Amino acid sequence: MPQHVCQSCGIPLNPSLAPGPCGQCLRKPLPQQQTHHLYLYQDVVRDAILAWKLQGQDIALNFLLQAAEPQLQHIFSKHDLLLPVPMPMYRMRRSGLHHSADLCQKIVHATGANMDWQILRRKGVHQRQSSLHGKARQRNLHRAFRLSGQALSRLDTYPEQGKIWVVDDILTTGATLRHACQVAKQLKRPIFAFSFARTWHENRSL
Ligand SMILES: [Zn+2]
Repeated sequence: MPQHVCQSCGIPLNPSLAPGPCGQCLRKPLPQQQTHHLYLYQDVVRDAILAWKLQGQDIALNFLLQAAEPQLQHIFSKHDLLLPVPMPMYRMRRSGLHHSADLCQKIVHATGANMDWQILRRKGVHQRQSSLHGKARQRNLHRAFRLSGQALSRLDTYPEQGKIWVVDDILTTGATLRHACQVAKQLKRPIFAFSFARTWHENRSL
């Protein structure tokens, strides 16, 4: 991860402008306080993620997580609560894997943090994001998440001093994490965002 970033969205910044907010976050603040990632989505990281997501092989991903363990320990504390970004049903049926939940489990194993996949939920059946563009994609995402009915009582069972993280495997435009964090804000606690890897986009739809 670059040393000087906008804390809010995680994009690299000129050192004199860090920790931001960057111009985009200033114009349109994000619901999350901070956005962290471990790797850029390229080269061996991309290969490791594809092998994990498409073939269920997580050896390379585990290696990359292990290599980043000091960073993980720095980012997460054992009091923190990780909420995986819920996956659409059609994708879970296809792959049989819930990637963000799987990733959370690996982080929990490395850091002793907590995870709860039942607080942040997916709403009903939605169109595939890949078949949508622009505004339709935003509308679909906007309606995609909700808190479960037991969210607040579940939250009470975790350490109050911990941070709440919304966790996804890859951050591309940032829109999915933004919408999930927006809903997580209904927990009335500061929300933080984390992705294993991210791509850089000049024209982000943050
Ligand atoms: Zn920013």
